[in-house]
Amino acid sequence: MRELRIFHLYPDVLNLYGDRGNVLCLKRRLEWRGLGCSVTEVPMGERARLSEADICFIGGGQDFEQGLLMEDLRGGRAQEIKSAVEDGVTFLCVCGGYQLMGHYYETAAGERCPFIGALDLATVGDAERMIGNFAFETAFGTVVGFENHSGRTRLGGGVEPLGRVLRGSGNNGEDGTEGARYRNVFCTYSHGPVLPKNPAFADALLASALERRCGDASLAPLGDLAEREAHESVLKKVLG
Ligand code: GLN
Repeated sequence: MRELRIFHLYPDVLNLYGDRGNVLCLKRRLEWRGLGCSVTEVPMGERARLSEADICFIGGGQDFEQGLLMEDLRGGRAQEIKSAVEDGVTFLCVCGGYQLMGHYYETAAGERCPFIGALDLATVGDAERMIGNFAFETAFGTVVGFENHSGRTRLGGGVEPLGRVLRGSGNNGEDGTEGARYRNVFCTYSHGPVLPKNPAFADALLASALERRCGDASLAPLGDLAEREAHESVLKKVLG
């Protein structure tokens, strides 16, 4: 039986806006298809072999929690994450979890947190936060969600945006981009959790991991009319 291993990194400190619901959504969408799924939580200080993961999830956090991670990242986790990224492990990184994949995050107070540098991007905070429902267009259709961040993220070379903003701020409120894509890493500012009401996004992540794990990215269709209707309802509301 095809089975995927999901590692949930920092569930103890990066846990805003029910982002853990993304892990539950991925697990359910596998199990509803008769596919296996295991979930391993990896809190700060816990050793884990990320090379065994098929999907890693990192949620959002406030500036203070992001600062708590520095020692853990320097203790070897940063290199593990970079290696897993280059090995093609699928990542979903949301907001604070997105920012820590870049070179640094500078808070609105001017404190610079050197981060992993797995993706060529950097984030600078601002006194004015970017908050609200938003929507963006991606290679797998529209995505709707809720953003709340002070950080303005700029993408460097080799990193593509996850999508183009239709309504809201996205990465920085200026260049029309939202999120980031690099190898099998999917980053977004979209809280919510983002996946339950964006089934195409959830299945794109599962297909990415299944392709790497077993060379078969096929996913049987699900009776997810409720999820698709929720998506359309929020999209209509956001786009007015
Ligand atoms: N602390 C970061 C910021 O304000 C991330 C916030 C979050 O994860 N929602 O930009």
